[in-house]
Amino acid sequence: MIMTKKKLYLETHGCQMNVHDSEKAISILAESGYEATADPLDADLVLLNTCMVREKAARKVYTRIADIRNQLREVTPTRQLPLFGVMGCVAQSEAERLFERSRDVRLVIGTQSVGRLPELVGQIESGFPRAIDVRLTRDAEFVDLDAGARQTPHVAFVTITEGCNKFCSFCIVPFTRGRERSRRADNIVEETRALAREGYLEVHLLGQNVNSYGLSGRFHGSFPREGTPLPAAGEGEITFARLLDRVARESGLPRIKYTTSYPRDFDEEVLRVMDSHENLCEWIHLPAQSGSDRILRAMRRGYTAREYLAKIEAIRASQRDYAITGDIIVGFPGETEEDFARTLELVATTRYDGLYIFNYSPRPRTPAAAYEDSVPEPVKAERFLRLQELQRRVQKERYERYLDRTVEVLVEGRSARSAADLTGHTRTQKVVNFPGDPELIGRLVRVRITRANPNSLYGTLIRESL
Ligand code: SF4
Repeated sequence: MIMTKKKLYLETHGCQMNVHDSEKAISILAESGYEATADPLDADLVLLNTCMVREKAARKVYTRIADIRNQLREVTPTRQLPLFGVMGCVAQSEAERLFERSRDVRLVIGTQSVGRLPELVGQIESGFPRAIDVRLTRDAEFVDLDAGARQTPHVAFVTITEGCNKFCSFCIVPFTRGRERSRRADNIVEETRALAREGYLEVHLLGQNVNSYGLSGRFHGSFPREGTPLPAAGEGEITFARLLDRVARESGLPRIKYTTSYPRDFDEEVLRVMDSHENLCEWIHLPAQSGSDRILRAMRRGYTAREYLAKIEAIRASQRDYAITGDIIVGFPGETEEDFARTLELVATTRYDGLYIFNYSPRPRTPAAAYEDSVPEPVKAERFLRLQELQRRVQKERYERYLDRTVEVLVEGRSARSAADLTGHTRTQKVVNFPGDPELIGRLVRVRITRANPNSLYGTLIRESL
């Protein structure tokens, strides 16, 4: 008898960590007979993996679920509604309130509970009206993902830490992802080796603060999957620099990137390791958030603008030509024109290759939510535009540096803009488009840059494969 598979529709919002959690959810639910579908109207299980970086995230979840339900009612009025579940930061933060505010939501999966998805879905399938797990513990294990179960075809993500102990005053992560945990180095190295064997050419090591890897002194292995023995304890506690060194030496991967770095924990040992391994790519994402010491103190970032710039100087003085990207929050409570001028200075001095600019808005439960959101919205908007204009000028120069240079590109697919062009990323995380044969997708090629656009480069193929 042929068993028809149940269908899973999973919508992912937010950061790379969420994208990776979604991959884990798809893989783990495949073992319970679910296959992914791109059509929510075809699904037996609809999961929204949510993010709270943007404002009003919870409200958007309710709206999205109502949209899917209404569409279903219109298109297939007699069909039984799918099981609706919420994962990610909104699930962690809203918990039971999701049940209270939406009669459709029956499943709530906290950020540390992805590994329990089959069990929670099973509870509902066996007749329980609802299922929820939003526990956050310091000892939660990591969900391992088989190399072959990735949803991203050319670039793979590997978790090295989860959670955060920094408690920056504006940030919800410590409340939604819990205390920082580091994954055992042996598990990480083994996963990267498996990815290399599977044919992956680029891996991103992920964590909210990768530089504090190992610093909390707590190392964790794999979430116990049915039938899988727990892995043996790893070789013990190592720093991020040592971990990078091991992955660079032992994985066999040609390109390794990592994100996100935290300025206070980013140290010269990391730079030394990066300088000494060709396969550690020349890209560092180091968010400053502000250039004003007063605001950095209010944000509880733990460094001054001068200390941040000293790290930038060390990066610029190192042996390789690194691209630096960052994040800035505009209009944090109490930010004066003088504070903002310091941010403009810091951005002009750092000369970022890319900058994510966010207008401040409070997140529930964070310390900053108790501060008066004192900068009026029109002022935030005006500062945003000024900073964006400065970054646009800096970035133009940073991109024009590549003209006539030949760069290595991992070809990831066809360009969305032109059917004749392919698209991929450089080692410095720049998008490059160039005309080429789709046969090249999934390969490393060399491209000579002929045009610098505001957010991408354009070029011609020089050599097909490295
Ligand atoms: S270090 Fe990053 S993740 Fe951690 S609290 Fe600060 S902003 Fe949030």
